[in-house]
Amino acid sequence: MSGPGLKGYHAVVTGGGRGIGAAAAIALAEAGAQVSVAARNETQVVEIAAAMRENGHEAFAFRCDVTDPHQVRDLALSATEAMGRIDILVNNAGTATSNPLPKITLPEWQHILSVNATGTFLCSQAVFNQMKERRWGRIVNVASIAGVEGDKYISAYTAAKHAVVGFTRAMAVEARGTGVTFNAVCPGYVDTPLTDETISRIMRQTGRSWQESLSALLEQAGQPRLIRAHEVAASILDLCTEEAGSRSGELVLLDGTETP
Ligand code: NAD
Repeated sequence: MSGPGLKGYHAVVTGGGRGIGAAAAIALAEAGAQVSVAARNETQVVEIAAAMRENGHEAFAFRCDVTDPHQVRDLALSATEAMGRIDILVNNAGTATSNPLPKITLPEWQHILSVNATGTFLCSQAVFNQMKERRWGRIVNVASIAGVEGDKYISAYTAAKHAVVGFTRAMAVEARGTGVTFNAVCPGYVDTPLTDETISRIMRQTGRSWQESLSALLEQAGQPRLIRAHEVAASILDLCTEEAGSRSGELVLLDGTETP
């Protein structure tokens, strides 16, 4: 959608400093929404929000670690104070590691669960009541293909994204009839800094070149190419429109099937 389809709507995007979150924030703004961009890294969100304002959009930046209930509550209050009630929430903040089971430490396991799953729960809980009262809301959770299938060395991430998918499905049922929808997008590997980190890790572990490591990653995932962040953003936007009101509990799978 382009143009003023979401004019008058206020969207909050977590993890909006780079990658998929930044692309989603820009797509929502281009569709007319006012956007609160939040992330743990303040410098990045400040830059994204400033760039959006330079392009004529309404955007605010907020520092928020989604694992901290106090910071999440502050984000909901400050964003509402700055741009009015929150209509749309994109739970995008996430992080990943890869390790075989014997090497996963408890803090690593807890961190992955906390950012991906607990963060989604906390942010959804912080906005759900105001959406329900207004009888309109869109919550889109950025899960992953790892939310619906398994692969080696990513058991913590896979467990966390399965939790996000389960939460989405349960909340879609719980929110039936309230005007609030819960959906998830589930991409394969996307061309973002997070995937760059994965490729760098493969390079370090195997001594392969960047291109060889990327090819190995894609081959293991059965993906012809990396998905582009703006493709994921387009699916997120699609689930946030007025017209998406009867779509809830959906998992939108994106696997980069089309070759470049
Ligand atoms: P990225 O690492 O490029 O960006 C992640 C963003 O989340 C950053 O802005 C970072 O500051 C923020 N963030 C991290 N931890 C946070 C926290 N505790 N609180 C607040 N913000 C935090 O990642 P990306 O590739 O753009 O991924 C975005 C989402 O998409 C994640 O949920 C990720 O799991 C999911 N995803 C990514 C891929 C991929 O291949 N890149 C594939 C499927 C799903």
